[in-house]
Amino acid sequence: MTVGAEASTAKQPRPVGICPRCHKVVRAFEDIGKKCAKPLPFGAKCPGVIRTALTADEWTECPDCGASGRIDSGVCPRCNGEGWLYDKQRLGA
Ligand SMILES: [Zn+2]
Ligand SMILES: [Zn+2]
Repeated sequence: MTVGAEASTAKQPRPVGICPRCHKVVRAFEDIGKKCAKPLPFGAKCPGVIRTALTADEWTECPDCGASGRIDSGVCPRCNGEGWLYDKQRLGA
């Protein structure tokens, strides 16, 4: 095991919910069932409603960043810094 110059990157906790429209993830139970309202291009807000995603096998640790959400000193582009990838087939889109 080699330790880089950076401080060890902590893993992000697994999210508890996701917006089925824009795939925004949330880690607070209080956000589940609420409007996503993530700002979208063109000044609109996402109309999706946050749904629960509590099953462990719905999520995969991002292989690019090891669930830390960060690569080197930047945000991991694969998971958008969340550290976790959702099995989008489960959204039934
Ligand atoms: Zn959304
Ligand atoms: Zn990542």
